[in-house]
Amino acid sequence: MEEVKCPICGEHCYIHSRAGSNLPTYKCDFCFAYELADEDLPLIQEHKVVLSGFLFETRMRSHSIRINAGTLPFVLSDSRIPRTPMQKLDKLILFIYSIGSGFKNHISKLAKYPPSVCYAEDAAEFNLMVSILTDIGYLCERQARFGEYDCGYFITVEGMKYAESLLSGNNNSTAVFVAMKCTDDFKSVYEEGIKPACAKFGFSVFTIDETKYPGDITDKVIAGIKTSRFIIADFTSNPLSVYYEAGYAKGLGREVIKTCNKKWFEEEKDGKKVNRLHFDIQYDNLILWEDEKDLLQKLEDRIQATIL
Ligand SMILES: [Zn+2]
Repeated sequence: MEEVKCPICGEHCYIHSRAGSNLPTYKCDFCFAYELADEDLPLIQEHKVVLSGFLFETRMRSHSIRINAGTLPFVLSDSRIPRTPMQKLDKLILFIYSIGSGFKNHISKLAKYPPSVCYAEDAAEFNLMVSILTDIGYLCERQARFGEYDCGYFITVEGMKYAESLLSGNNNSTAVFVAMKCTDDFKSVYEEGIKPACAKFGFSVFTIDETKYPGDITDKVIAGIKTSRFIIADFTSNPLSVYYEAGYAKGLGREVIKTCNKKWFEEEKDGKKVNRLHFDIQYDNLILWEDEKDLLQKLEDRIQATIL
């Protein structure tokens, strides 16, 4: 492990090299984890701002992202990347909305924030954007007299309302939250079944690997579900977290597509079912899939029927 400057955001980061591979993995506080070969460094030169914003925004994902000539166009066309200055402002208000709890949410004057939180080019643009949000009444500068909070820019009631309208009005969202077991044996289900089925209609999927975020998982899951158009919940093996996430999504009015492995679901011993799902109605629109290919096909049909 070697300490270097992050080639994307410029902050310090660590570089890990895999044994027998010339593909280094960078681990950066702001860009999470990505793989980038030395010979591909020129590729990213003119896309650093967008890439650091995108990597910051998607840092909840469970796998490091590989950046090369093949993957870069897909990353750059992701619908989460803001295309206009106003969309960048939306990213900033949503970032501030997400960093604390309720009315304590603020950005401190003492802390240094990466400009990538709102796809700003540099600290100067970031500071300018904070001023603009203050001018339009979404942020308010407050001094230290509020006790334990240091001085900084707090979200106003108008700012809260606006951030919440952005989160709830997500009919245009192309993100899909996937609730499932994140163990290795489910990787191919995610990669070969769920991901391509959603990609066919322009949706990008993400999941949150709970083992990587001990302690603060709930906030990440809630934020993930809130910003999603719909969720896919796979109940194979009855993971409790999937029930929780599906229930939360349902409560928010999100469509939940329920799936389960057929073999596991139908397993019998001495003529009796071994595994049972904890639904009121067990067959409530449940997609039973045989393998990744079958899941891909059935999910495509369901998305077309119920989401589009
Ligand atoms: Zn970085």
